[in-house]
Amino acid sequence: MRFSEFGLTTLKEVPAEAEIVSHQLMLRAGLIRRLASGLFTWMPLGVRVLRKIEAIIREEMDRAGALELLMPSVHPAELWQETGRWEQYGPLLLRMSDRHDREYCYGPTHEEVITDIGRRELRSYKQLPVNFYQVQTKFRDEIRPRFGVMRSREFIMKDAYSFDIDQSGLEASYQKMHAAYAAIFTRLGLDFRVVWADSGEIGGSKSQEFHVIADSGEDAIAYSDDDDYASNIESAATLPAAEPRPEPGQPLEKIATPGVRTIDDLCKLLDTEPARTIKTLIVEGDAGPVALVLRGDHELNAVKAQKLDGVASPLTMADTDTIRKATGSEPGSLGPVGLDMPVYFDHAVAALADFSCGANEVGQHYIGVNFGRDLDEPQTVDIRNIVAGDPVPNGSGTVRIARGIEVGHIFQLGTKYSEAMGATVQDRDGNDVPMLMGCYGIGVTRIVGAAIEQGHDDNGIIWPNPIAPFDVVIVPINLQRSDTVRAAAEELYAQLQALGFDVLYDDRDVRPGVKFADAELIGVPHRLVVSERGLAAGELEYRHRKDSEARSLNRAAALELLKE
Ligand code: ATP
Ligand code: MG
Repeated sequence: MRFSEFGLTTLKEVPAEAEIVSHQLMLRAGLIRRLASGLFTWMPLGVRVLRKIEAIIREEMDRAGALELLMPSVHPAELWQETGRWEQYGPLLLRMSDRHDREYCYGPTHEEVITDIGRRELRSYKQLPVNFYQVQTKFRDEIRPRFGVMRSREFIMKDAYSFDIDQSGLEASYQKMHAAYAAIFTRLGLDFRVVWADSGEIGGSKSQEFHVIADSGEDAIAYSDDDDYASNIESAATLPAAEPRPEPGQPLEKIATPGVRTIDDLCKLLDTEPARTIKTLIVEGDAGPVALVLRGDHELNAVKAQKLDGVASPLTMADTDTIRKATGSEPGSLGPVGLDMPVYFDHAVAALADFSCGANEVGQHYIGVNFGRDLDEPQTVDIRNIVAGDPVPNGSGTVRIARGIEVGHIFQLGTKYSEAMGATVQDRDGNDVPMLMGCYGIGVTRIVGAAIEQGHDDNGIIWPNPIAPFDVVIVPINLQRSDTVRAAAEELYAQLQALGFDVLYDDRDVRPGVKFADAELIGVPHRLVVSERGLAAGELEYRHRKDSEARSLNRAAALELLKE
């Protein structure tokens, strides 16, 4: 590609709208341009990266025996009503109607559509197993689109769906995808980790996510310092305390705590630690408000809490009015003593003695609270986020926390969709049975952002070689004024193209410094400089994007190096 014909505009300034480095660099390098909130145009440079990622994904999916198809992005409402997700999906689903007032949605995921294909096309166990995939545009009306293409509203996903006759078949299909995903992310040159996950809106039982490790990641991952346990903290279980609870040592006392609203305020006043206090959160429930009680230093885990009996899903905090009516008090002064509503205690709370909590009167707290005396012996549940230092729940060692960007997610759906939609096949005995399904997603556009989060420096992007928009950039010095340079650069350009490289030939009439800066910003891995001085010595100047210094090579040696 001749730079003069590529129409790339790079930006020197860091765009104010971009919070994280990948978003900034994608705008500066001209990979994307914003259209509206969560909507981006992929510019020619960005499309080159996308196509390389897609090619690797397709190769590995094909190798794993999956079959590519292409489903519509607009879905009739009736399909989503069959599974109940028309209501469940809520505002994330972009709904629309056509000229006949029929309702549709823009597909955020394709379980319904593929299950409809499955029930029409698949009749017998003899047609199974089968796995269909597509690379296609999704729309989710995200509440907070941010970080550019990492959390956009429209994005490209590779989604795959497997059909099997029984659980052991599903297990095998799932493991095949697990292996294919590991191969894909390895080939993409990403530092990734596979973690246990919650199934969320998609449903089903077993599920795992593939995370690119990066400080800017929106997800927290709990992993073991001792074995290969790793889980999204959304679904990382916490264990009941191992040690027995100490005996009560203090009497129950109600004290005045004027102005105390937070755990920090309370700790300052009492000169104690958050871990010796508890906090009471009131959430909406099926039959009135429900209290969730956690240790003062712990965080509520919404994914766990919304699965409790009687608790509304999605988890919704009760508003101040509801709290006033139910407790006679205000947020900031709540506690379980004498509270008249269903109460769930986190495991960690049950290990406390002589703790403090709100007294359900504004400006009043209890100290010296004890179970078995001031409160009934609690039935405890797991409703908090795991934290660094906790014991690993089903393995060995101590939990550490890292941040990750979810780039892939695999699920065992079981019969959730096939039962709801009547997707059955005949088994060996001639009985109609629902198929067992799995689904497997990769965030194609998100990968671009994730790769940049992992690979960049002050000067720009450092792509993993397999997904760089160009393999090599030729930077001629004084091209417009030197026939020798022009002849040599043109010849090198033709030669490298003939060898199958993606070459960016910077034939612009601009200062060398501008060419160098752009080459670094867009992150071309290999750079060859053609200059009169070099040519006189029979040499080109070579530099890898990661090298700190350039070196001189003759042309044959440079070609050898690139071929490697
Ligand atoms: P998240 O938890 O990040 O919202 P999800 O779990 O809802 O994602 P899945 O339904 O598992 O997403 O979709 C499969 C993949 O699609 C995800 O692993 C992610 O890489 C990608 N993806 C999901 N939502 C977005 C988005 N808003 N923008 C870009 N990519 C996305
Ligand atoms: Mg997911």
